[in-house]
Amino acid sequence: MRSRERAPVSGQRGRVSLPRRQNLAEGVYEALKELIMDGIFPQGSRVNLDEVARELQVSQSPLREALVRLESEGLVIKEPFRGYSTAPVLSRSELEDLFEFRFVVEPWAAARAATSITDEGRALLATEMASTPQAPIGTSYHESRGMASHDARLHDLIQTLGGNAHMRAAFQRTHCHLHIIRLHYRGGMGEAALGEHHRIVEAISSGDPEAAAAAMRAHLEASQARLLPVYDDAWQGAEEG
Ligand SMILES: [Zn+2]
Repeated sequence: MRSRERAPVSGQRGRVSLPRRQNLAEGVYEALKELIMDGIFPQGSRVNLDEVARELQVSQSPLREALVRLESEGLVIKEPFRGYSTAPVLSRSELEDLFEFRFVVEPWAAARAATSITDEGRALLATEMASTPQAPIGTSYHESRGMASHDARLHDLIQTLGGNAHMRAAFQRTHCHLHIIRLHYRGGMGEAALGEHHRIVEAISSGDPEAAAAAMRAHLEASQARLLPVYDDAWQGAEEG
């Protein structure tokens, strides 16, 4: 499979237009996020407030608001005297650390969810699976956003059903789905993940903690295996070069 191509900076920024009906702050946040996620603002690049405000045709205040949100998600970094710059994408060892953490908390939460599952919990899982978008075909953030949100929502719901607020808060702080999708999205990944999600939900809904933990572990193993080849591809070198 080919690595995801990164668009050159010049001549690309104007392609993001703000949805008029949407709340302005939300629209600015989404537009900026898309520029970062798609690598149009490459990692480590400075966010020039004047320039971005001009291109999005907004004042600096919704822009600053958006940057605070993006900073809390780990997509931008604020440095004294330098302002905001885009955060680096996950390194291989950071990705491995992230998965190590997920292997501890997620199968555990899935097992706990299965142990204490109620009809209400089953209904919530079924609703999430029914709202699942079709696996995306393209590789842009815009195209993969629906799948990424479903992924984040489902894993968070399992944490909620697992019933440990500390565990859930620690999981949420990683913003793992955002960083994974920023790192890479390959066509075909979504479809495999959806099948794995169905197996996790089935095991939790049937109240089988061992099967739920095993299904979650299998999903994380498969997900990691899909992601690690990113580091063998040329794009990371190109991104850094
Ligand atoms: Zn998933």
